[in-house]
Amino acid sequence: MTNMTTLDLVCRFLAEFAPPILAAQWDNVGLLVGDRQADIRSVMTCLTVTPGTAAEAIDQKADLIVSHHPLPFHALKRLTTDTTPGRLLWDLIGHRIAIYSPHTSFDSAASGINHQLAMGLNLRAIAPLVPIDGAPEGTGSGRFGHLDRPCKLLEIAEQLKTFLGIDLIQVVGPLDRNVVRVAVACGAAGEFLEVARQADCQLLIVGETNLHTCLEAESTDVAMLLPGHYASERFAVERLAGVLADQFPELTVWASKQESDPLKWI
Ligand SMILES: [Zn+2]
Repeated sequence: MTNMTTLDLVCRFLAEFAPPILAAQWDNVGLLVGDRQADIRSVMTCLTVTPGTAAEAIDQKADLIVSHHPLPFHALKRLTTDTTPGRLLWDLIGHRIAIYSPHTSFDSAASGINHQLAMGLNLRAIAPLVPIDGAPEGTGSGRFGHLDRPCKLLEIAEQLKTFLGIDLIQVVGPLDRNVVRVAVACGAAGEFLEVARQADCQLLIVGETNLHTCLEAESTDVAMLLPGHYASERFAVERLAGVLADQFPELTVWASKQESDPLKWI
């Protein structure tokens, strides 16, 4: 057959969309499992490869999983079904399903997750919280910017919940606090508190962090919103499925329908 789409072609597009040079040193990004010369017909995006998302990919005959979080992440010395990552890799390789993970390169890309979060809150003059040495302008870790007018923390919380499609959110700080400058960092991102404070942000939005970082935020008068690690990133893999479908109309592309937050909010 002619005009087949190779895995290599999709990888090249993803590497342009989220350049691996933007990934953190400790990360493991790019094509992690697969044969670049293989023809592919269907792609599933997800946040994480789990028994549930792997089963969906196998059932729905995906040729490629684009998983935000890497699998494998840690170096492997053996590939057996004795561990969860080993079991997942064994099953997926058995079904000839490739895995590509953009992870921190997607967080930091020009149109990446943090930029999309900042746009979702209508921030102006959006800039990276931590630019990356040698990387193009407009890329880097986290984002910050300012609102058109001062808004109450409660109002921003409601706007974020609507954007992410969630009903509940955790908050640090008084709900009537006036906020103009906002920093965002998806995932587990409490490490950005100090840089957000230095950028004069009154609010830092992170997926999740620990109690002590929340106490430090409270002590230094920085409000926080914590929608959960899952919600802070899952919307972006749904959008990524749309980006891939537009770029490769010949492919069947979907965001995992089985995936859900393992932390239930009640
Ligand atoms: Zn994450």
